[in-house]
Order: sequence, then C-alpha cells, then structure tokens
Amino acid sequence: MRGREVFDHISEDACRELESIVGPENLTTDPVICEGYTGRGMDREIFWYQGVSRPPGTVILPESAEEIVRIVKTCNRFGIPYIPMATLGMACFAPSFRDDIMIIDLKRLDKMEIDDKNMFAIVEPGVVYAQLQGEILKKGLTSVVPGGGGQVSVLANSFVCGMGLFNYRIDFLSQRRLNGVEWITPEGEVYRMGSLLADDDSWYWRDGLGPDAIGLLHGIVSWGGGMGIITKISTKLYPIQSEKLEPGGIGPTSHVELPPTVRWYNIDFPTEESCRKAMREIGKARIGAVINRVPAYWRDVAKSRSDLAFSNDFWQRWNRMTPEQVAESRVLRVLLIGRASQKQVEYEEKVLMDIVNETGGTMRRARQVDEATFMAVNAPGMWKATGFFGECDGGIECPRCIDKTRETYIKKLKEYEHKSDFLDQKGDSPWYMPFTFGRIYYTELHGWPDPARVDPEDPNYEIGIRERIIRWRTSETHRIGLETGMKSFFFGQVQPTGLAEPANQHFSVWIDRFKKEFDPQGLAAPGQPYGVDRMYNEHFSEEITDSIRKVVEKVEDGPWGGNPQ
Ligand SMILES: Cc1cc2nc3c(=O)[nH]c(=O)nc-3n(C[C@H](O)[C@H](O)[C@H](O)COP(=O)(O)OP(=O)(O)OC[C@H]3O[C@@H](n4cnc5c(N)ncnc54)[C@H](O)[C@@H]3O)c2cc1C
Repeated sequence: MRGREVFDHISEDACRELESIVGPENLTTDPVICEGYTGRGMDREIFWYQGVSRPPGTVILPESAEEIVRIVKTCNRFGIPYIPMATLGMACFAPSFRDDIMIIDLKRLDKMEIDDKNMFAIVEPGVVYAQLQGEILKKGLTSVVPGGGGQVSVLANSFVCGMGLFNYRIDFLSQRRLNGVEWITPEGEVYRMGSLLADDDSWYWRDGLGPDAIGLLHGIVSWGGGMGIITKISTKLYPIQSEKLEPGGIGPTSHVELPPTVRWYNIDFPTEESCRKAMREIGKARIGAVINRVPAYWRDVAKSRSDLAFSNDFWQRWNRMTPEQVAESRVLRVLLIGRASQKQVEYEEKVLMDIVNETGGTMRRARQVDEATFMAVNAPGMWKATGFFGECDGGIECPRCIDKTRETYIKKLKEYEHKSDFLDQKGDSPWYMPFTFGRIYYTELHGWPDPARVDPEDPNYEIGIRERIIRWRTSETHRIGLETGMKSFFFGQVQPTGLAEPANQHFSVWIDRFKKEFDPQGLAAPGQPYGVDRMYNEHFSEEITDSIRKVVEKVEDGPWGGNPQ
C-alpha cells in the first residue's frame, strides 16, 4: 500500500484483497494522501466550512473496467461504501458526513479513440475536454465544452449537468450526444447500452434496439455516483468545417485564434427589452451559433489577467462602473460560424447587422479570439470576483418563464436587506441565453459571497452570514422558479433534492425505486443524491422558511403552479 497503513475505517482483510486487484502502488489509507481527496468543488464551500466534507478513509486507482468489477464486488462483500470520481472537479458529491468512504479514482482509465469519419469519440472517465478538443479541433470537429472548463471529464459531464453554449446544430446537452455506454452497476454487473446493444463495436449511433435506458444513469440532475460506475462512452462530434482554430497564449491568457469563418460580435443595447427583441429576431432568422447575454461584471472578470492580482484587477474595473453605466450597456455576445462557407458567415453577419440596427443596438469591438466556447480556459475566472463561486439556482424553460424568473430575481436582490452579503451586480440581469433558435432559454441566478466573511477560521468571519446565504439561496431564490414554473437543474448539487420534489411530479419516488433495485446495500455514494438535504436538515433547518414550504404545497396541488386556471 502507498503511504501509512491505517485500518481505522476499513478492515485490513478488505484492504489486502483490494490491493491484490490493483497492486500496492494503487491503494492508500494514508490520511495525508486521503486529505487531498476531500470534497470541495463547485459551490461546496459551505459544506467545507460546515465540516461536512471529510477526507475518505481509502483511495483506490483501478486501471480497467475488469478491475472495477472486482473492486465493486469486493465492496459489496465487505460492505465498503464507495464513491467514483473522474477529476473531482465537482466534488460536491464527495465524502460527506462520514469517514469510511473509499474513493475510486478513475484517472488511470484515460483511453480516447477518435473516429473522425463517423464523427464520434470513445472516451474513458480520465479524459478531459481539453484533451478531446485538442485532438478533434485538428480534424475540423468539435464537441461542447461545459462552463466548468477544459479540465472537466467528458464522461462525468455527460452524467452531471452537461450543458454547453451552442444554439443549434450541435446539441447543447451532453447526455443527448451519447451513443453507447458501458456501465458497471452498484453491485458489479456490466451492462452495455445505446448502440452497444447491437454489438460491442457498434459505437456510432444512439438508441439501440428496444427502449433507450441511458437516461437512467443521468437521473434528475445527477446520481452523484450513486448509480455505480460508467467506464466508457461514445460521444458525438460535430463538424465546424472551417479553417483550423489556432491555440495561442499561455495560462490565464490561453485562447484560440479564430479564422474568418468564425466571428464574435459584442453588441450593446440601451434596454433589456431591446436586447430581448434582438434575441427573438436572431432566433426567427435562424442564425447564430452562440447567443449569450452576459452580465456586465462578467466582462470585467474576463478582462482581468494575471494570477495573484486576479481579483484586485477585477475590483479596480468593477468598482469604477456605476449602476447607470451598467443599465446603459446591456451586452449581448453573438458567435457566427460559417459552417458551409465564408459566404454563410457574411450572410449571417448582414442579417445580424439589420437586427442590431432595427433594435437600437451598438456594435462594440470584439477580439477575434475565443476563451470559452472551444477550450473553456477561462472557467477559473468564476472564482475571480469574490473567491467563492456563488450559485443560487438555475433552470431551463420557455422564454417567457425565464424572463419572469430573471426579472423577479433582479428586483428581489435590489430590495434585499442583506444584499451586501453578495457582490453588487449593480442592477444587471443574471446570465441568460437561448437554445434551439430561441425555443428554450437558460438562466443562472448568482449571488457571490466573500469567503473571508463566510469561513469560520477567518478573522473577518461574520456570525449569521452562512444562515442568510442558505436562506437566500433556497427559501428566496429557489422559490422564484417554483412560482414561475422554471425547472431547476441544481437539485442535489446546490438545492436540496427532497424539498421541492413534491412540486416536481414527485421525482424522488423513481430515484428511490431505482436505487433500491440496483443498490440494495446502499454502498454506491451512500446518501446521494440527498447530500444537500442532509446538510440543510442537520445544520440549516430553520433557513427553510414556512413560506417556501407553502409554495411547494401550492404547486403540488396543481394543476400548474397551484393555479386552477
Ligand atoms: C465553476 C463551475 C462551473 C460549471 N459550469 C458548468 C456548465 O456551465 N455546464 C455544465 O454542464 N457543467 C458545469 N459545471 C459542472 C462540471 O461540468 C462538472 O464538474 C462535471 O460535469 C463533472 O465532472 P468532473 O470531472 O468535475 O467530475 P467529478 O467531480 O469527478 O464527478 C462528478 C460526479 O460524478 C460522479 N462520477 C464521476 N465519474 C463517474 C463515473 N465514471 N461513473 C459514475 N459516476 C461518476 C462522481 O461520483 C461525482 O458525484 C461547472 C462546474 C464548476 C465547478
């Protein structure tokens, strides 16, 4: 075994058996090494500060699906709870509340095969988007890098969230880009799904014979490792049919240089309504590869360079902006791709200019480089503003519903008595964007706190702020979506799964049934996807107000949002 042998949380017999599967170099119980696997990740600071995130008791690194089957069966025989991990980037689902978890680190499963003729890639969990994009861009193909960044596992992202930026032709949902899947159940059975039903080499098409059961592995947002281990997927790739995207810069200045067939446009609008109108017209005209309404402070996040001075750089810019300036400059970013030819991009540009002129927009300068769509190198910027990635809620729905949700959030945040708990957004709109030619919209409602005020170990810690953040995030923000009908995609990650599920067709009936069927001993990521519920119940029960509970009841009563009309 690697490091110190400690058998406080796992029996020595079990350890020796596991060691014989992966070899002594690939198993550890050393608390120092295990400490590095403590879950924090996306918006998990509150878990961390609350002492809910604990290091695992054991870490094991298999090399193949065959080894994983043996490990999982051994876990079932000895009753060892385990959590799989790809990059541990998300990590919100990593060991919570207990010390005896075994992390199954999948980074050694790192094979990637690209079939450019049939446009798909077969990847194992250790392959990240930066590697995939690095190879396929050379072949004139692309995939969809999520906001989480180029360091995110392609496979894990296909079963956790899985959302990118593209408006059309390329499916923005990674679960819909899957062809075949190889899955090891929580008890160690191997299943092949999707096109693999036809035969083992059939990786190129979705929906094999019979019903497509791949959705079972994604769940409502993610199982958080609670439904066994996926060892291989085939994911669709898409042609961009343009000249090569040349990489440039290094570290925080990394980017790709855009060829003339791929163009960014930055447009200012004097009012939100004129911006919305332009977005509607762009959808009707069926142009635009990416259409992104970015909050003003994001521009300052993106402009800030350097490492140590990252946030100083940001604050110097953002402090200079007045709410009036923010209100006069509603920024829409539009990416056009001439997939067929240079003529296509020229045509789309003319249409876009007509729409901008008719809606009162003003073109701004746009650097013809990309940091977010093809490589997503700017993802660490999400921590830049305050040092705490402050998700409150997010969802996908029809345009009217998303508009109402955003407008309510802006008003609520403006009027909130403790608004200084968060970055001052100066009245701007939260991030939103259309998909599928504007038929559906996406939004994220952010509240970015200052970690120094939230961390009990910090001299600037402020008693009561964590409770307020939790109350704001769920009882105020999550409640908006319940009232407008927006479906949240943060159940189990940011929002508790159980609280609002009665208002969402009681989805947990199905979660619980599947879990019981496939994991009768409850060893795969025990407690998931209800980890956030448990944290709320044990540490923040008073922050779930009667008022949100009443809204849940009203929506549950139906027929729609409790509205009998
Ligand atoms: C700041 C930030 C912004 C983000 N923005 C976006 C966004 O815009 N769009 C988007 O789609 N995502 C976004 N994400 C989420 C990001 O894409 C996730 O981190 C990712 O999907 C999970 O991949 P990972 O490599 O981080 O996985 P990990 O953290 O290793 O795993 C995530 C979960 O999947 C489980 N898991 C891992 N591997 C397997 C496996 N092989 N089989 C079964 N279960 C497994 C783990 O147990 C864990 O519960 C964001 C994340 C961050 C931190």
